[in-house]
Amino acid sequence: MQRIAERSAEIATGGEMRSIFEVRRAYHDSLSNMRGWLTDSVVSGGLTVLDRLSIIDAWQQEMVEFFERNGYCFACNRRLDRCRCPREPYPGE
Ligand SMILES: [Zn+2]
Repeated sequence: MQRIAERSAEIATGGEMRSIFEVRRAYHDSLSNMRGWLTDSVVSGGLTVLDRLSIIDAWQQEMVEFFERNGYCFACNRRLDRCRCPREPYPGE
């Protein structure tokens, strides 16, 4: 299970800043890869529903960080300096 989550993170490493088109293509590639693993019983047949949800959670968090490392908001795809999404979920700020 840990290994599958790490494989889904491979796309999130690599260094240079990418365009939003490249970031979104990487996101879609990673999503289809993850779907492939989760529906391949050879790879993931022993996983529980909770395992699968944990993997999807970890993958989504990695994608949020991947977008942000490249300067984009995961939710709205704007550059972070133009994003108006609520970012810090702390009441009173
Ligand atoms: Zn945003």
